[in-house]
Amino acid sequence: MHIPSLIEKKRDGRSLTHAEIKALIDGFTSGKIPDYQMSALAMAIYFSGMSNDETTSLTRAMLESGDSLDYPSKGTRRVVDKHSTGGIGDKVSLVLAPLLACDTELIIPMISGRGLGITGGTLDKLESIPGFNVNLSKEAALAQIDKTGVVMMGQTADIAPADKKLYALRDVTATVPSQPLIVASIMSKKLAESLDHLVLDVKFGSGAFMQTEAEALSLGTAMQEVGEMMGVKTQVAYNPMNQPLGHTVGNALEVSEAITTLRGGGPDDLVNITLDLAVKLSNQPRTRLNEWLTKGNAYAKFLEIVEQQGGSPEQMEKFSDLHTARIKKDLKATASGNIKCVDAAAAGRASLQLGAGRQRADDDIDFSVGLSNIRKVGERINAGEPLLTVHAASPECADAACIKLDSAIRIE
Ligand code: URA
Repeated sequence: MHIPSLIEKKRDGRSLTHAEIKALIDGFTSGKIPDYQMSALAMAIYFSGMSNDETTSLTRAMLESGDSLDYPSKGTRRVVDKHSTGGIGDKVSLVLAPLLACDTELIIPMISGRGLGITGGTLDKLESIPGFNVNLSKEAALAQIDKTGVVMMGQTADIAPADKKLYALRDVTATVPSQPLIVASIMSKKLAESLDHLVLDVKFGSGAFMQTEAEALSLGTAMQEVGEMMGVKTQVAYNPMNQPLGHTVGNALEVSEAITTLRGGGPDDLVNITLDLAVKLSNQPRTRLNEWLTKGNAYAKFLEIVEQQGGSPEQMEKFSDLHTARIKKDLKATASGNIKCVDAAAAGRASLQLGAGRQRADDDIDFSVGLSNIRKVGERINAGEPLLTVHAASPECADAACIKLDSAIRIE
């Protein structure tokens, strides 16, 4: 097939056939179609959109770019997972996966992504744990599931490789907030897990790819349709993302907060959303799931995951000491009053610019930088008290973040 003609077809708003989409995805996955042509196609999809049939073909082609997981020892256990469309400070997966794994009726094969646009990614957060390997082969993933019932990993050469490549490209070409691309990205990964039940956490608001509730509804409905069509029970939760979730943004800072939550001391918004999602997937009552969080069961499971995937459980006790940014600077309130807004998008952008995310596909990220002690909307604050702490690699970076964040927080 002549690739420039296919790009042109989409650019001009015409529909691609299943065979054309399959050829594009197969060619890109094998390296025959270069990044620059795929970037142009992604931008054409961004502007022209895709029909439901095209979106389904794209999802299917991306799913078929690799293998699916099969569970020789599944028995009567249900295979479940959740996926978020991406937010700021969204560390729910880090808490939810080990929590669900306390339920012996479940298998949780969580395939996640890296940071995307201004949003953080579970894989980057996990990699701030020294030694933690997210690049497992299909065999290694299945062996771990057999032992612990849970794995937290990325797309590989075996599983959803097309998403791995396209995801990295979209991240740096401003082609993330496109409904068909998000549907195919999320659903190809999740369908490769051979799930019985999937819950999608669709975010909307300034810190999400979908700015309005109506856009979120459209995305959630599209993903649900693809999931159900492929035989997976698919539920959607819609959650606002106008302020960061919890009190931290940035990779290691978020892992620290997740550990605190797994040890029973998490912030209310993070605990509530985690339990809301957990009760959809587990048949256990909310009170039991909450007990697993507060009594250490979920934390013990987390340590098991860390150990299985190459990290050191002992290090988790003092995880917050492992990554310390050179500069810590408080942003102080200049007036007293109630906090009306802590703009999630501004917090995400500040964290990205501090080095917690990528500007180019091959950029390294700095695990130590980001924001902590972020105060919540509705809290009372006095002039001079810290609104948040910036963790930066240099005083200049800390100052630049403070200037941006100052105008992103409203006190009345
Ligand atoms: N999460 C994903 O896995 N893919 C997207 O495109 C957006 C969020």
